[in-house]
Amino acid sequence: MFQKNELKCSSCNKEVTGNEKIVAFLDLPSSMKMPYGLLSAGIAKCSTKVYCQSCYYRSSQENKF
Ligand SMILES: [Zn+2]
Repeated sequence: MFQKNELKCSSCNKEVTGNEKIVAFLDLPSSMKMPYGLLSAGIAKCSTKVYCQSCYYRSSQENKF
Protein backbone atom coordinates (compact mmCIF):
# COMPACT_ATOMS: atom_id res chain seq x y z
CA MET A 1 0.00 0.00 0.00
CA PHE A 2 2.79 2.40 0.89
CA GLN A 3 6.23 2.98 -0.50
CA LYS A 4 8.95 2.09 1.96
CA ASN A 5 9.47 4.77 4.60
CA GLU A 6 6.72 6.82 3.08
CA LEU A 7 3.58 7.64 5.03
CA LYS A 8 0.80 9.28 3.10
CA CYS A 9 -2.59 10.45 4.28
CA SER A 10 -5.30 8.15 2.95
CA SER A 11 -7.59 11.11 2.43
CA CYS A 12 -5.54 13.91 0.85
CA ASN A 13 -2.51 11.81 -0.10
CA LYS A 14 -0.18 14.30 1.55
CA GLU A 15 3.03 12.74 2.79
CA VAL A 16 3.13 12.96 6.55
CA THR A 17 6.49 13.55 8.17
CA GLY A 18 8.05 13.96 11.58
CA ASN A 19 6.56 16.30 14.17
CA GLU A 20 3.12 15.82 12.68
CA LYS A 21 0.14 14.33 14.43
CA ILE A 22 -1.47 11.47 12.55
CA VAL A 23 -4.12 8.84 13.08
CA ALA A 24 -3.39 5.36 11.74
CA PHE A 25 -5.43 2.19 11.64
CA LEU A 26 -3.21 -0.86 11.93
CA ASP A 27 -3.38 -4.57 11.44
CA LEU A 28 -1.28 -5.30 14.47
CA PRO A 29 1.31 -8.03 13.92
CA SER A 30 1.44 -10.85 16.45
CA SER A 31 4.80 -9.60 17.69
CA MET A 32 6.07 -6.16 16.94
CA LYS A 33 9.67 -5.15 17.39
CA MET A 34 9.79 -1.56 16.41
CA PRO A 35 12.88 0.52 17.12
CA TYR A 36 12.00 4.15 17.41
CA GLY A 37 13.77 5.12 14.19
CA LEU A 38 11.73 2.62 12.27
CA LEU A 39 8.41 3.70 13.69
CA SER A 40 7.16 5.51 10.62
CA ALA A 41 8.29 2.67 8.35
CA GLY A 42 6.59 0.19 10.65
CA ILE A 43 3.38 2.17 10.64
CA ALA A 44 3.55 2.50 6.86
CA LYS A 45 4.00 -1.25 6.59
CA CYS A 46 1.31 -2.24 9.07
CA SER A 47 -1.33 0.42 8.70
CA THR A 48 -4.45 0.11 6.61
CA LYS A 49 -5.31 3.79 6.82
CA VAL A 50 -3.35 6.88 7.85
CA TYR A 51 -4.85 10.30 8.34
CA CYS A 52 -3.04 13.58 8.84
CA GLN A 53 -4.33 15.86 11.56
CA SER A 54 -6.41 18.10 9.32
CA CYS A 55 -8.15 15.18 7.60
CA TYR A 56 -8.79 13.50 10.93
CA TYR A 57 -10.40 16.61 12.35
CA ARG A 58 -12.45 17.14 9.22
CA SER A 59 -13.62 13.53 9.21
CA SER A 60 -14.38 13.47 12.91
CA GLN A 61 -16.44 16.64 12.56
CA GLU A 62 -18.40 14.89 9.84
CA ASN A 63 -18.80 11.88 12.17
CA LYS A 64 -17.30 9.53 9.62
CA PHE A 65 -15.09 7.87 12.17
ZN1 LIG B 1 -4.81 14.44 4.90
